[in-house]
Amino acid sequence: MNEMHRVATEVATVKLLIDGEFVESTTTQWRDVVNPATQVVLARVPMATREEVDAAVASAAQAFKSWRKTAIGTRARIFLKYQQLIREHMSELAAILTAEQGKTLPDAEGDVFRGLEVVEHAAAIGNLQLGELANNVAGGVDTYTLLQPLGVCAGITPFNFPAMIPLWMFPMAIATGNTFVLKPSEQDPLVTMRLVELALQAGIPKGVLNVVHGGEDVVNAICDHADIRAVSFVGSTKVGTHVYQRSSLAGKRVQCMMGAKNHAVVLADANKEQTLNAMAGAAFGAAGQRCMAASTAVLVGEARHWIGDLVAKAKTLKVNAGTEPGTDVGPVISCAARERVEALIASGVEQGAKLELDGRKPSVPGYEQGNFIGPTVFSGVKPGMRIYDEEIFGPVLVILEADTLDDAIALVNANPNGNGTAIFTQSGAAARKFQEEIDVGQVGINLPIPVPVPLFSFTGSRASKLGDLGPYGKQAVMFYTQTKTVTARWFDEETPSHGVNTTISL
Ligand code: NAD
Repeated sequence: MNEMHRVATEVATVKLLIDGEFVESTTTQWRDVVNPATQVVLARVPMATREEVDAAVASAAQAFKSWRKTAIGTRARIFLKYQQLIREHMSELAAILTAEQGKTLPDAEGDVFRGLEVVEHAAAIGNLQLGELANNVAGGVDTYTLLQPLGVCAGITPFNFPAMIPLWMFPMAIATGNTFVLKPSEQDPLVTMRLVELALQAGIPKGVLNVVHGGEDVVNAICDHADIRAVSFVGSTKVGTHVYQRSSLAGKRVQCMMGAKNHAVVLADANKEQTLNAMAGAAFGAAGQRCMAASTAVLVGEARHWIGDLVAKAKTLKVNAGTEPGTDVGPVISCAARERVEALIASGVEQGAKLELDGRKPSVPGYEQGNFIGPTVFSGVKPGMRIYDEEIFGPVLVILEADTLDDAIALVNANPNGNGTAIFTQSGAAARKFQEEIDVGQVGINLPIPVPVPLFSFTGSRASKLGDLGPYGKQAVMFYTQTKTVTARWFDEETPSHGVNTTISL
């Protein structure tokens, strides 16, 4: 156990969920779940054993036999009840999330809410799981499709949205008729587990949802498991690439939503006050730990004179524990994450960028042990510097300049990541040009974090995504189902017989 951690008198253990029961792991390997604002140990999470992963998958495989035949309406009613339970427990869920993850309480409610929207969508998924029918594709022959569940599916989730991202996964998989094994982030599994308890309370039957905890070994066991049909992963590019390759080799359907470097392109005709507010919120909110954080500003033409205004905006943000009212920027997830971000800031200085605002080691009275970094701004940033080439995942905004919109588009398209981007302008023509020419999966126009609602899907692209289909919305229905195409002919007494036919035809 890390010496810095102050241990609460009774440290609870996080349970596995196997076959409808919350059970204590038999493992000898445990990890602390730590409050990033105080270093208090909130719980201990097990690194599940191979046998426990096998038991979770076996339970899901058994449950699939009956769950796949459950009526659409029965499944829908469980998710209708589930969304109600999440609403009723919103404050409790947000408090758990802030304690283990660090983000502010209002932002934690946003995290839960964006997941809740997927649960609402899951309740109505029958509308999207319809097959197609073509009448008379040949004389007396109809062709139609069935969108059938795959079987046991698995989800592996990151620390930064411990409510929303698990809810991107298991409700969609289960509502479409699959059973599920979830592997939450080992850094903040507590709010995920509370959401899982509420899911059981809503009526998800034994074995339909299982949870195993752990890190690399458990993830590899999931990738390799012969009885898991599909894996949905959200996390870093390095781990996601490994999960994609290893799971694909084992014959699974895989989707990996991964790291990012999101550029916000600012034209001088943009509404200045709105743009500066949006930029500061999207760069520093959640301490920059969002995969859609607008961490890179590209100031075009005369907008290059806005650097001072952006820095002034960043200075107005209050750094404090997420539980304190009025906080804008909470701690980053761990001491290791703080050290990593601080080292990247140091590299920016060494590599010649101009440190306009240094947020390292801010004073946060009452929370001296917290993993805090205040808003940090660099200008004069260029490709080739580590602060541009790497995802910082902290409250650090890097500013680049471009002479024209064409130059800005070329810069964004040359970056390997394709998660999100935004343009700020009052010109419809410029916005439309950007939307057409930018090679990034999610585009905001005067909106800095364009995460689509579940009527659509999350559509990151290029190095930010492996696999074709997104994690929620219509694309998730395709991901979690197998299309079976049936071609049928029924004979009646009048159907003439033409004898044996050895040519290809219907
Ligand atoms: P991470 O990749 O470290 O962890 C993600 C999951 O992988 C966790 O469950 C973890 O236990 C597991 N894992 C960690 N190391 C592993 C290893 N060596 N082998 C196998 N499994 C391993 O990511 P994180 O730090 O929890 O989350 C932050 C990252 O996630 C950022 O890069 C962020 O951009 C990305 N992210 C992407 C999206 C998106 O939709 N594109 C959304 C949220 C977060």
